[in-house]
Amino acid sequence: MGLFAASDAGFAGAPPAPLLCLQRYYGVQPVLETDHWFARLGQGQRLPYDDGRKKTFAQALAEPDLQDMFSLPYRRGPTTAIHSENDDPGRVRVDSLFKFTYGSNRAALRRVEFLGQKILVHSRIVGPLARVEERLRVLVAAHPELRQTILPLGGAFTRRKIAGTDRTSAHSYGIALDINPKRSDYWRWRHGQDLRPQSDRTPAQAIVDAFEQEGFIWGGRWYHFDTMHFEYRPELLDPSCSVPAELH
Ligand SMILES: [Zn+2]
Repeated sequence: MGLFAASDAGFAGAPPAPLLCLQRYYGVQPVLETDHWFARLGQGQRLPYDDGRKKTFAQALAEPDLQDMFSLPYRRGPTTAIHSENDDPGRVRVDSLFKFTYGSNRAALRRVEFLGQKILVHSRIVGPLARVEERLRVLVAAHPELRQTILPLGGAFTRRKIAGTDRTSAHSYGIALDINPKRSDYWRWRHGQDLRPQSDRTPAQAIVDAFEQEGFIWGGRWYHFDTMHFEYRPELLDPSCSVPAELH
């Protein structure tokens, strides 16, 4: 499958693997037009898979194409501090893709209970989130001290921009959940300092694993860390979606 992830123009075979994953997880339709791949959103707008521009990280954050969303691999495993500047897999989001899939209609939101706390989330993540909750319920039963790392939750759906930016937060789509902010670390609170992965201000490995196993990425894996933040991004956790390293 990596064969299909070749960069784009001039290859008229199957769609690139990441684009197939966006079809699977975001409901877009891959289309090939004049040797370039696009994702069609419903009947209307289409987004280029690769806009052909070479970008700095700041430019990729501000004006990403779909391929840019996959340019940094998301790595599971032991929680460690990230020292590589801008190693923020998942922070690049094509806003119109998320708008298409998750919309801005409050009717798509559902009120659910998560470990006893009521939150609002998008209907599309109710299933995966319930599976995370079940994993955490078992975990907390065995390790009651972990409960206070998670609860009270910081929240889920809320319409807002990312702090200090003009970009829409994943919370605005109802696909992100913050665990207890008082037991968390955020890079804006700790300028110029590294995340301290083993401190009591970062969640236990088993908590991170529970979310990742169900398609949620963790903000503690970012150079710009946000350890309370979990976000439904199955395309970054499904190995079949990644672009082979040599093509980055
Ligand atoms: Zn958050």
